[in-house]
Amino acid sequence: KKSSLSEVKVAVIGAPGVGKSALAVRFLTRRYIGEYDHQAETRYKHEVLVDNEPVLFEILDTCPKNENDLPSQETLNWADGLLLVYSIIDRQSFAYVKKAGLAITNCDTPVYLVANKCDMVHLRQVSSDEGAILARNFECGFSEVAAAEQVAPVAAAFQDLCKAVLSARRK
Ligand code: GDP
Ligand code: MG
Repeated sequence: KKSSLSEVKVAVIGAPGVGKSALAVRFLTRRYIGEYDHQAETRYKHEVLVDNEPVLFEILDTCPKNENDLPSQETLNWADGLLLVYSIIDRQSFAYVKKAGLAITNCDTPVYLVANKCDMVHLRQVSSDEGAILARNFECGFSEVAAAEQVAPVAAAFQDLCKAVLSARRK
């Protein structure tokens, strides 16, 4: 019996400038484009293989106006999974994912925490341990990546989140 195509909706959440668009584009096209002219939320739909099974990803690349503009309830309700992104060179962006994460601890939506820009270690403001501890609090996956330089680790973050969504759905 051929199973129907799984659809997974992912909202990419994080402070302005952390690399949300870079990560989404990297995952969907394997390419890195240095600058994005996204002044508004962007939606992508794309089929991707996860464990050799095709999955239709719908990705919402959110676009908060500032550090205090947390994701809307509408976005949180829409998403099957949330990719929380901060930048290791921006402590404020770490505070943003902390706040955003606390706002969703009472819903069952699977989460994955991504620390981006790990190519910029010389400007690091958030340690790997801090990221790992936050991920433990959120009971979610975590990795440090560089959208600017990597393909596989970026894809792995989206794929891990997707697997968490699919396994939660089976329960
Ligand atoms: P967004 O506002 O969260 O969507 O962030 P963007 O994807 O627009 O990226 C903001 C800036 O950070 C752009 O200049 C990107 O080129 C840059 N950027 C994104 N990812 C990385 C990364 O992994 N390393 C470095 N060094 N720069 C990055
Ligand atoms: Mg963007």
